[in-house]
Amino acid sequence: MKLVYCGNCHHVSMKSRVERNRCERCGREAEVAHVPYPWQIVVGWSVVLGGALFLLIPYFWDGTPWSGLTATVGLRLVWLVLFLGIGYYFSNWGVRVMKERVLAARAPEASS
Ligand SMILES: [Zn+2]
Repeated sequence: MKLVYCGNCHHVSMKSRVERNRCERCGREAEVAHVPYPWQIVVGWSVVLGGALFLLIPYFWDGTPWSGLTATVGLRLVWLVLFLGIGYYFSNWGVRVMKERVLAARAPEASS
């Protein structure tokens, strides 16, 4: 994942690493903007990773303290939706923060 900033229309687009650096709004060439990952991204990834471990560990080892919580397919699905939902929420929030930081750094006049 990368963010590209368009100097033409001051739009920040999110792209995968293999995509060309084109602006989503006007289609012009945009430049890659480097901003550190905010804590929301880290929390989002941690929730998804932690959720995966939470669901997988009882599958491979018997007698985990929370094995009762993941005993049925229905329960596992509930946890999966919950973890993915929370992870998605924080990741989205983090991407929004990153876009705001790119704009604040590149176009101070546009953020005021
Ligand atoms: Zn543009």
